[in-house]
Amino acid sequence: MELVEESPYRFRIDRHGPMRVPGVVFAARALLPDLGEDRSLDQVANVATLPGIVGAAYAMPDVHWGYGFPIGGVAATDVAAGGVVSPGGVGFDISCGVRLLAADLTRADLPRLREALLDGLDAAVPRGMGRGEVWQLTDRAELDAVLRGGSRYAVERGHGVAADLDRCEDQGAVGDADPAQVSDRAVQRGQGQVGSLGSGNHFLEVQAVDEVYDEPTATAFGLRTGQVCVMVHSGSRGLGHQVCTDHVRAMERVMPRYGIEVPDRQLACAPVDSPAGRAYLGAMAAAANYARANRQLLAEAARRVFARVAGARLDLVYDVSHNLAKLETHPVDGSPRRLCVHRKGATRAFPPGHPDLPADLRPVGQPVLIPGSMGTSSYVLTGVAGAPAFASTCHGAGRVRSRRQATRTVRGQDLRRDLAARGVAVRGTSWRGLAEEMPEAYKDVTAVVDAAEGAGLCRRVARLVPLGVVKG
Ligand code: 5GP
Ligand code: MN
Ligand code: MN
Repeated sequence: MELVEESPYRFRIDRHGPMRVPGVVFAARALLPDLGEDRSLDQVANVATLPGIVGAAYAMPDVHWGYGFPIGGVAATDVAAGGVVSPGGVGFDISCGVRLLAADLTRADLPRLREALLDGLDAAVPRGMGRGEVWQLTDRAELDAVLRGGSRYAVERGHGVAADLDRCEDQGAVGDADPAQVSDRAVQRGQGQVGSLGSGNHFLEVQAVDEVYDEPTATAFGLRTGQVCVMVHSGSRGLGHQVCTDHVRAMERVMPRYGIEVPDRQLACAPVDSPAGRAYLGAMAAAANYARANRQLLAEAARRVFARVAGARLDLVYDVSHNLAKLETHPVDGSPRRLCVHRKGATRAFPPGHPDLPADLRPVGQPVLIPGSMGTSSYVLTGVAGAPAFASTCHGAGRVRSRRQATRTVRGQDLRRDLAARGVAVRGTSWRGLAEEMPEAYKDVTAVVDAAEGAGLCRRVARLVPLGVVKG
């Protein structure tokens, strides 16, 4: 794989073979994947072969290997030119994302409250691989209401306040959800999991704002130095996973009908404007709404604990996905085009002035939420005007060590003790699961954010540090 350094944070993979556009990797040299171990840059080149792709196949600085598409990848296809949608470009955890809430507490309050808050959260947050939910759904009709209404339906049913929805991407629900395209198996897997964290990489973390880089923007987001926050990372659980599995299979079957050939079966796709493409997008939107409702309910669980234990309130800063395909209009060669923008392990980052932002955020831009690890910083960023990659940036630090490598390096018990010594209280589900999530399993999030900012994808607003984490 030949990488041409275009500028300090931008590398190009020139077109070769069946690539329709070049690949572009936003990263510092030190962040580039180890080409021997990680095939994610080959995956960037593979994505560049997709019908209708425009601009380039992009990789963010947190890029690493994924199913078909790399994690930390962005690809947009031109709908009117036969552009395709690919479930692998969204990933299995549809609309997995991050929600940040700000508490009316400061860091100085935490020493006396921390253990009680974490014990309360530990008990209130269902997690792990299996069942468990905050919200017991009565029947399929109610699940369908979740699939159509997302966070909006949760708020309607008393789980949250209307003001929350202004601080949610898409006002809490993606349009055009089609629950009929969600299989019985997916429904079965999702029925008992609404309001549950999931496993491993998913978490609910108590944090403090350690540093503010842009005071006016932080203030508009509702953040100030020393403030206590809660960050939630979760997705669409078994339901989203099954939707992805089902529609990859369906697309594999219909690809020959459209004369589509892909270099990797995991890139199965169909034209956006085809029955299979529309079916996937309808099911994907339904799964996304499930994820949105899920994060709404997890936040409610945290709110109840903060109210009971500390008499404190939690205000929503923002909720944004990092695994989704969206129909958006962006300029291509100077003229506006309707595009299907795949962001997989990548976060939408609208610049200031974007019409889809709520009035109070429009002057400053969209909050972008970047978790680091349970032992390092996390970041709040914002979008910038004229950014490349269709208003997208990174989604996290990005994994560098496999789960297996991590469990060979550290024991969960030791990790928990080390973190406690560094001021981070941990409530896990299994020692092994904890070890898999060791901070060293991830890239240096500060280097990732530096590269994203250096590449002109976003701007830093605030840095958060962990005080306690409830791990899936
Ligand atoms: P993913 O969506 O790819 O599973 O994870 C997103 C990012 O979350 C990872 O790249 C990693 O940087 C971050 N992350 C994973 N576990 C934790 C955690 O416990 N706390 C924080 N703050 N970030 C985490
Ligand atoms: Mn996820
Ligand atoms: Mn995620």
